[in-house]
Amino acid sequence: MIAEIVAIGTELLMGQILDTDAQYLSRRLQSLGISVYYHQAVGDNPERMRDTLALALSRSDVVITTGGLGPTQDDISKEMAAQLLGLEMKFDEDSWQAIRSYFDRLGRSCPENNKRQAMFAEGAVILPNHCGTAPGCLIEKDGKMVVQLPGPPHEMAEMFDKQVYPRLAEMTGGCIASRYIRIYGLGESQVAQMCAKWIESDGEVTVAPYCSLGECQLRVTARGGSEHEALEKVYPVVREIEALLGENVYAVLDTPSGSMEEAAGRELTAKGLTVATAESCTGGLVAARLVNYPGISSALGEAHVTYANEAKIKYCGVKPETLEAYGAVSEQTAREMAQGLRENSGADIVLATTGIAGPGGGTKEKPVGLVYVACADKNGVRVEKLQLSGSRERIRNLSALRALDMIRRAAINA
Ligand code: ATP
Ligand code: MG
Repeated sequence: MIAEIVAIGTELLMGQILDTDAQYLSRRLQSLGISVYYHQAVGDNPERMRDTLALALSRSDVVITTGGLGPTQDDISKEMAAQLLGLEMKFDEDSWQAIRSYFDRLGRSCPENNKRQAMFAEGAVILPNHCGTAPGCLIEKDGKMVVQLPGPPHEMAEMFDKQVYPRLAEMTGGCIASRYIRIYGLGESQVAQMCAKWIESDGEVTVAPYCSLGECQLRVTARGGSEHEALEKVYPVVREIEALLGENVYAVLDTPSGSMEEAAGRELTAKGLTVATAESCTGGLVAARLVNYPGISSALGEAHVTYANEAKIKYCGVKPETLEAYGAVSEQTAREMAQGLRENSGADIVLATTGIAGPGGGTKEKPVGLVYVACADKNGVRVEKLQLSGSRERIRNLSALRALDMIRRAAINA
């Protein structure tokens, strides 16, 4: 079964919003083993919308549209789909009552315009909207299925998951489940080499490597009659890979997004450890990312942005002679920042960063992208020297990522 997603709305084409609905739906369809071959986006223009939908219907079995179900004249998704399928539009009294009572609950009067939202192609299955006003619909004709969902992401997701997903699951009779192994500290080719046996195998569990900023991940996928059945095939492979890659695996997740701060926060709080930071070039990024982790308050006591030399001396006890002799961006300064703040704060783990984020300020000896990340704990101080490239933002983000990984590893080994 081949599916296609058509995002409707001029704001998508103008770059005002990103098509996250398509991302969400693609992931959900993948989990059902339904292949998504195409994504399209089109504005609120009748001719172009008709062409877009006609193309989608010509090559896909299931066409899912998002957006354009609102009450205004430019919300024409349903009319266009009905026209293409050769169906008349009909007024649905129940939907109209539901829309009116939605307005009643909000204490607002319902504009007559909203009657448009109660018009559907004849024979359509109406999908009530439990989070907003615009109902969606599902039309089956000549072996094709058109599903029309509202644009707002939470309305779309609720409607799809509750009312469309079960129907599709019944049709496909199975599902695909994946787990994502997040890895930091090994390059993509290293990972690919170490895991070649799984990546190259054409057994029923597939393993595929992906690379993102500063890290890589492996997607482990299998098919089964149910999600549970599929995962029973996935997990043994995940466990074997985890055993092989050891500490470099920082999380195993059910979505490809997720974060290092979560892994660091989890290790810190599980062990009851405290952490403090002294940041120069990352300017608080490490602390801000740690604070993303709910529950970090039991671990994070203080976080300093010690940008100027004076601040490094005042809060971290860096010796003026060290700054004088080696400069602010040096292994020695990074070491003293971490060590000094550890003494001052009494935290179990202290992380310090100092570097040249650019674009200016680089020299031959100390080029842009040179960053030192230091981590002090009861075992001493480790300083890592990074030579990064790219924009100021990229250099700062990669430095923060390394810093969080060092905190995570220090917590594991504490
Ligand atoms: P409404 O009744 O709210 O008008 P609608 O179905 O007509 O619903 P749109 O008007 O197309 O939906 O979009 C409403 C809002 O939903 C957009 O302004 C945007 O914030 C969000 N949205 C729409 N389409 C998408 C999409 N593909 N991805 C992410 N967000 C979207
Ligand atoms: Mg709208």
